[in-house]
Amino acid sequence: MILVLAPNTSTESVEYQTLIERLNQLPGVKHRVHREVGTEVTLTEIYLIGDTRALIHETMAQLPCVEKIVRVSEPYRILGHHQYGDDRTTSFEYNGVRFSQDTFHVFAGLCAVDSRESVEAMMKALQEHGQVCTRMGAYKPRTSPYAFQGFGKECLPYVFELAGKYGIKVIAMEITHESHVDEIRAALKATGNATGVMLQIGTRNTQNFELLKAIGRQHEFPVLIKRGFGITLDESLNAAEYLASEGNRKVVFCLRGMKTNMGDPHRNFVDFAHVPVLRRLTRMPVCVDPSHSVGTRAASSDGILDIFHVVAQGIIAGCNMVLVDFHPFPEKALVDGPQALRLSELKHFLDDTALVRETYLKRIALAAAARKAETA
Ligand code: PEP
Ligand code: MN
Repeated sequence: MILVLAPNTSTESVEYQTLIERLNQLPGVKHRVHREVGTEVTLTEIYLIGDTRALIHETMAQLPCVEKIVRVSEPYRILGHHQYGDDRTTSFEYNGVRFSQDTFHVFAGLCAVDSRESVEAMMKALQEHGQVCTRMGAYKPRTSPYAFQGFGKECLPYVFELAGKYGIKVIAMEITHESHVDEIRAALKATGNATGVMLQIGTRNTQNFELLKAIGRQHEFPVLIKRGFGITLDESLNAAEYLASEGNRKVVFCLRGMKTNMGDPHRNFVDFAHVPVLRRLTRMPVCVDPSHSVGTRAASSDGILDIFHVVAQGIIAGCNMVLVDFHPFPEKALVDGPQALRLSELKHFLDDTALVRETYLKRIALAAAARKAETA
């Protein structure tokens, strides 16, 4: 059971203290307080853990400060949607950019940082097209130990400095060890926090539970968690829940295709039909990664690249974010050059995503009108 308190409830207030005293008296029930401090409102939720079956809804609803009661019916206690009418907000803001199941952002950028020149060309193009988010891989988990592993902390100073120069607010950056967070924090600080970072948990680390716990314990950086490429959706959602259970709810869930040769000739089997499923089961914003799922620049008989097609499939189904590989000089890219889109394709890509997003919003309006007509 979750007690949702009235917005801006002060933990110093007499009512709050009374509430906590009453909760302490419940036999066999422990509680855990979660506070989300926003710029305008502070939201407080109290999770009751243990044998809550005997608790009477009406009695609990009348406790001081309690605005709403949510019965937990799904395993994803914090990030899940629980019962019909559980309309709690999923939104979070980071470095001036808001993320929720209502927003939409494109994170176009380098799979791996390979030179200052590539980073600058990429960011300059993004700024010219009104973009404030990007992806930049510094720590690359590679199949072969002999392959380029990313420049790591060495490249962070110029990546963050250039991000500041070109107005980039959020960089999605994979980390493979918790020490990378300290390196990122230190490098950001050295640039006077010129930009922000969304920590990315890659598909190979989706079930690295100690990494998840460590990243969940820090509440500064939001997290983009990739679906594990060879595990069930339920297992991946539990992985996301690890982050939240440690206190970090600023979590975006990313579909990136599943590892099976059934998806050939794509690199992975595209699973974007799960966008609506994720929106139903959880409160997380949903991201799609067309680059690592499709993995080629092949085009269809209509002249449209498969990457563009699957992005459209994700957006038309309601995704909130697109993470996509671009490269100013794909032939020189040290990682994943063959799947990278070119800067000359950025405008077309953004126009195409905007077109499909607009259509998705029209679909929502159409569905709402149809529901209204049915109930009239
Ligand atoms: C990436 O986004 O750079 C990446 C390695 O993706 P994934 O973890 O999905 O393979
Ligand atoms: Mn890649």
